[in-house]
Amino acid sequence: MEKYIIKGYYPTIGIECHVQLKTKTKLFSGINNDARDAAPNTLISPLCVGLPGTLPILNEQAVALAIRAGLALRAEIAEESVFDRKHYFYPDLPKGYQITQFAQPIVGKGIVEAHLDDGTLFAVNITRAHLEEDAGKSTHPAGEDYSLVDLNRAGTPLLEIVSEPEIHSGEEARAYAHELNLLMKYAEVSEADLFQGNMRFDVNVSVSKDPEKLGTRSETKNLNSFKSVEKAVEFEILRQIDLLEKGQPIVQETRGWDDAKQKTFSQRSKEDAHDYRYFPEPDVPPIVVTKEAIEATAQTMPLLPAALRERFGTFGLSSPQISIILEDRELAAIIRFITEEHDEKTARTIANWCLGEIMRQVADNKLTWQAVMSAVPQLVTLASMVDDNRLSSTAAKELLEEIVTDKKDPLKLAEDKNLIQISDDGALVMIVEQVLNDNVKAADDVRSGELKAIGYLVGQVMKASAGRANPAVVQALIKKQLEK
Ligand code: MN
Repeated sequence: MEKYIIKGYYPTIGIECHVQLKTKTKLFSGINNDARDAAPNTLISPLCVGLPGTLPILNEQAVALAIRAGLALRAEIAEESVFDRKHYFYPDLPKGYQITQFAQPIVGKGIVEAHLDDGTLFAVNITRAHLEEDAGKSTHPAGEDYSLVDLNRAGTPLLEIVSEPEIHSGEEARAYAHELNLLMKYAEVSEADLFQGNMRFDVNVSVSKDPEKLGTRSETKNLNSFKSVEKAVEFEILRQIDLLEKGQPIVQETRGWDDAKQKTFSQRSKEDAHDYRYFPEPDVPPIVVTKEAIEATAQTMPLLPAALRERFGTFGLSSPQISIILEDRELAAIIRFITEEHDEKTARTIANWCLGEIMRQVADNKLTWQAVMSAVPQLVTLASMVDDNRLSSTAAKELLEEIVTDKKDPLKLAEDKNLIQISDDGALVMIVEQVLNDNVKAADDVRSGELKAIGYLVGQVMKASAGRANPAVVQALIKKQLEK
């Protein structure tokens, strides 16, 4: 606890996250849910615009994805859950209420284990997660006396994941948000693209001198990057401490984040807090999920980040390496496949190529991870050639692009390019003897203990072998010859 204290105050943070589920259609209508390339107000139905007489029909796929999310959160899935109406007036909510879940959410208590940058593991308990529909989008053109409303997003299925107030720093808040993002991606629940607004975070921050008692909190809404989650939390902690030190009260309020100024700003205070007049949604029956359905879904869950971390760790990959691998599901699938089929050394060699040379080429659009996956057999051969000293690691890297692109036989390619190292000891011994005969002075220097001359001799042998000898082997051979 001591490590969290700032100027005598103990910060406490709870996070709510809205996850957009990747269903084909909206939560209560058959309208396309992918609004990315759609012109405003083209993906709408009478239901989306709140016309009287329309009736919602629940999207079964949204329920299935909520169950998957619940399993990824290691949470209890409710066998019965209920939708409620949450009333408020806003131009982008034409029917005057949001259909959400209030008293009986589909996902109950769960847990998320997140990692700090230094690898430290910490757990955050999940209070609940509930299904709800998204509202539309209002934009307010600068300098104009009107606003624009786009209802394409109205009715998009969301899962709102609520954490317990158990986070105590900006770094922890960022790590938790990041882990939640990986979980939703790997559980195949959401595209989880923050840039597209697929996940939005609200952070509740308070500070208190008494760790047993929570202070008054502010809520900063709609953060859409891990960095802004961290920075908004840090800003709020310091802002609140500053107010308290000046003897001023903290106002319970909703705040926004100005990314350009790296500051939060007040949006509305508690005085205009809404009475949402929740009551059960009469037009949507309760969701009933059987134990069998939950069990069947559990069978289809892929390996999640925690399991992959453990597996890759036992193959000797470092925790920073694993973090980079997990960022890309395609790359993680490649490494997972190799760890299932091959030994530790091969897996490490190929992982290093993937994280270095190959990743650079993927970033330059010269290679795709898909092509890398289909070239795994060739990469395994290439790794074995490096292992038994037939190929230098530098030479192997030169061959990577061609091997992945054209699926060429690595041995044949290396032979064609004259890159195979001299493995025949006899041939190499002859070259070493020749070099020692041609460089009597350097050879004598090494014999009399002046070891830096050996580097020169190794260089001469490498030259004579056109770079196809292994320097370590050459050095050992030179020593052996000189001892005779
Ligand atoms: Mn919500």
